[in-house]
Amino acid sequence: MTLARRLLAGSLVVVTAMVAAVVLIAGGRLRNRLVEEKRDELARVGRVVSAEWQAGTDPEALAQRAGDALGYRVTLIDSTGVVVGDAEFGPEARRRLENHYSRPEVVGAREHGVGVSLRHSASAGDDELYVAQKHPLGYVRVSLTTGSLDEIVRGAQRDVLASGLLALVGALALAFLFARSISQPVVELRDVARAIAAGDLARRPALSAPGEVGDLATALHRMAEQLATRLDALEADDQLMTAVLESLEEGVLAVDERGMVIRINQRARTLLGVQAPLPFVRELLPREHTLREAIEQASVGTSMPPSEIAMHDRTIAVASRPLRTGGGVVTVLDLTVLRRLETIRRDFVANVSHELKTPLTAVSGYAETLLDDGIPSEQRQRFVETIRDNATRMQRIVDDLLDLSRIESGGWRPNVSTVEVSGIVTDVFTALQSAASAKGLTLAATVTPDATRVRVDPTAFRQIVTNLVENAVRYTREGGVTLRTRAADGGVWVEVSDTGIGISAEHLPRIFERFYRVDAGRSRAEGGTGLGLAIVRHLAEAHGGRVEATSVVGRGTTVGVWLPAA
Ligand code: ADP
Repeated sequence: MTLARRLLAGSLVVVTAMVAAVVLIAGGRLRNRLVEEKRDELARVGRVVSAEWQAGTDPEALAQRAGDALGYRVTLIDSTGVVVGDAEFGPEARRRLENHYSRPEVVGAREHGVGVSLRHSASAGDDELYVAQKHPLGYVRVSLTTGSLDEIVRGAQRDVLASGLLALVGALALAFLFARSISQPVVELRDVARAIAAGDLARRPALSAPGEVGDLATALHRMAEQLATRLDALEADDQLMTAVLESLEEGVLAVDERGMVIRINQRARTLLGVQAPLPFVRELLPREHTLREAIEQASVGTSMPPSEIAMHDRTIAVASRPLRTGGGVVTVLDLTVLRRLETIRRDFVANVSHELKTPLTAVSGYAETLLDDGIPSEQRQRFVETIRDNATRMQRIVDDLLDLSRIESGGWRPNVSTVEVSGIVTDVFTALQSAASAKGLTLAATVTPDATRVRVDPTAFRQIVTNLVENAVRYTREGGVTLRTRAADGGVWVEVSDTGIGISAEHLPRIFERFYRVDAGRSRAEGGTGLGLAIVRHLAEAHGGRVEATSVVGRGTTVGVWLPAA
């Protein structure tokens, strides 16, 4: 039941009970009071009549006269109880009246001087109040019908009832207004509180309600404000935490005591390949033994030192640490690149050692032989030349390595200027002409009019062209080498084509790697170091350019470099 209805019902009950009580209690009391007053009056009247009743007076006439004058029924009774005069009965009727000697009021008068009785009168036909007094000649009794008294009481009760009804209507109206003024704001407060509990923190109660309800509204208002402020702060904290987690290079996931994953950053999602929304059960993570172990340790709050696992073609370090709040954190770090670099470094060292080992062995071997005095001078001359050739080869390797490391380490910056392609090409062709002629190869250049100049470091550009033409001459037995330029993508492609041995498709993508050679013996025999194209690629990239190679085995190869135009 609503508050308003309870208030209305309550006031209905209270007012009704009050009216009923007033009607019943006050009605009874009023009647008693009236009876008491009438009894006293009847006693007084009795005394007056007593004074009139003398020996010799006609009791019949006295009773009639006094009754008429005083408006009450006056009855004169002799000492034996016979009615000798009565205001309402004539001599005829009186004689039929029974003896009054043992009537209660007469008995009372005989014993105490005055007797009172309230009872139904057989002769009068209704309730009568009798007051009898003792008299030397008998008893004087004055009586009255109580009907008139009851009429007064009923009238008073009707009045009380009427005003009670009026009061009831008034009370109900008041209760209704009061209930409305209380319950409306209370209902509003209830709705606002429900909305806030459901998460609508923008809802606020109106502060206009009077009294305690108003205080309650103010308190609710403040509570909502506080709640909103705290939630904002919590949200900001959470966002900061997420931002920090997302900025980590490490993948991080938190598990609680039940083994549920309650936080995970994008890095960990990518590495472990999970997209399930949080929170999710750990069974959704990959079934890798060490990873499972780490999650298990984290959820029971113990730490596990990092250990490496292989997953989805990647090398990943997994570790776990406990959290003070229960559960723990599992970290996953991608070591793939690091391990690959380590491999590259190891291979590189092995390659360099291998490259230097052959010429060094030759140098030391021939030097050893030269120590022998018995060697003819002509042979001695050949040995010395071999030593010089091997030293030159080592020199070239070391030079190329130094160039590469300088470019790769980022310490070298191209000193860019506008360079005429044809000028550099002419220089390079002149330098390599003898090597080409020795193999019967022609060198030709076609510089297109819209691709004549590039923005490059001139020394670097000279090296690029040299390396490409050198390779073309090196791997071609007959035919020729052609250099072409063409404009594309706001730059210039410088392409060197030959009619040589070509490169098969499986090797083609790797020829720009350091020390990668299709045929190591042939390369060495031709004076190659395996570093030429790696240097070309690095130089091109240092200018924001790129390299590309196409080839048909037995037909020839084209290696191109894209460089920015002037
Ligand atoms: P190298 O000093 O051995 O020539 P590069 O880095 O210049 O080293 O080239 C790597 C490898 O690519 C060579 O060993 C060779 O096998 C292949 N190569 C490069 N240019 C050509 C070409 N024009 N024709 C055929 N093969 C080539």
